[in-house]
Amino acid sequence: MYIDRVHCDVLVVPDCDRDYCDTAQDNAVVRIATNTGLVGIGEVESNPWVIKALIESPSSSAYTRSLGELLLNEDPTDPEAIWERLYRESFLVGRRGAGICALGALDMAVWDVFGQASAQPIWRLLDSQAGKSTVVPYASLLPTGRTLDAYRDSLLAKAHWAVEAGFRAVKLEILIRGPFAQYGLQQSNDAIVDLVAAGRAAVGPDIDLIVDVGYCWTDWQEAAQVMRRLEKHHLFFIETPLMPDDLDGYAKLAEATAIPIAAGELLQTRFEFAELMDRGNVAVVQPDVGRVGGITEAVRVAKMARQRGKLVVPHCWKSGIGIAASTHLAMVSPNCPYFEFLPAVTSESTLRRDLVENDPVPVDGQLPAPSLPGLGVKLNMTAFERFAHFARVGGATENDFEATQGLTAIG
Ligand SMILES: [Mg+2]
Repeated sequence: MYIDRVHCDVLVVPDCDRDYCDTAQDNAVVRIATNTGLVGIGEVESNPWVIKALIESPSSSAYTRSLGELLLNEDPTDPEAIWERLYRESFLVGRRGAGICALGALDMAVWDVFGQASAQPIWRLLDSQAGKSTVVPYASLLPTGRTLDAYRDSLLAKAHWAVEAGFRAVKLEILIRGPFAQYGLQQSNDAIVDLVAAGRAAVGPDIDLIVDVGYCWTDWQEAAQVMRRLEKHHLFFIETPLMPDDLDGYAKLAEATAIPIAAGELLQTRFEFAELMDRGNVAVVQPDVGRVGGITEAVRVAKMARQRGKLVVPHCWKSGIGIAASTHLAMVSPNCPYFEFLPAVTSESTLRRDLVENDPVPVDGQLPAPSLPGLGVKLNMTAFERFAHFARVGGATENDFEATQGLTAIG
């Protein structure tokens, strides 16, 4: 068996709002096919046109090979060997950043094919002894709202819904200050403290409450002052208080507050995570399965975290494809109490809601151990074609690479 076709498609929602913080409005979805007729899928959160170019552009030297070309004729039953080859032979372009994101989407698809060929869910191929019968998603809640009042109302309504739906942990996206404040909202630290208090009151005392402040502080001392005011709300962790490269700031902040600190959603490879843990001293690492470099690399990061006594709580803000990948990672990671889950009900994105036919839906706040071969999710091709169409007509047309060419051949 060998891989004989590789595609990457750009998908965009029809009503894409470029000032909204919701990155589930687009997607880069890869599909790889084998000579035996299997099709594996993967996705990654990045700029999807960049990912498509990295996968489908031709090779230009021995150091700058095309990821798609490298994958052709490979045997998909050895994902780690494929990962090493793609990493090594693309490293002038790749090695970090978008190059690893593209590799990550392909790695996910390779594992999907390997699982289908073996008639096993991916987690069993990773660790046949994995002891979990369920995995636990946390509800990740991004409000709408262009004013503080509207933002607060939307956030609390979604928090109430998540508790009613049975989630055991809830994350409040409080993106109202700093460089990524939604719609340019620039609110005070007092407003952040008030929103966290209102969020805790909304979910009650028994829910594990997580707060994502979206890199809102540039100074660890200011972050420490605010976080000390939040300690009474017993947060499970606070996410990305500082910019990703301020590792010394992270280390100082970890000393200055009792609230566990989480980071890593943007990072690539185990090498960046080693720095985040050993120099930044965060308590919780958040690899995104696609962005860190795929299932192969995410499992390595989770193991490194476990060796260091740290939790892994994967980031995921895309579709049912990435959620499935996170469930397999959670299955084989004893140090993974939760993984990020964007509930379809509270998502404004039709792409999040419609892309896969068998979107995982938690029951009593849990998902059962995946049992279908491979990733275990199936694309809804009608929705897929629609989002590919909107990418062509509504996106940056100069970067349109004839996104649906060959769809019928591979689908
Ligand atoms: Mg985040």
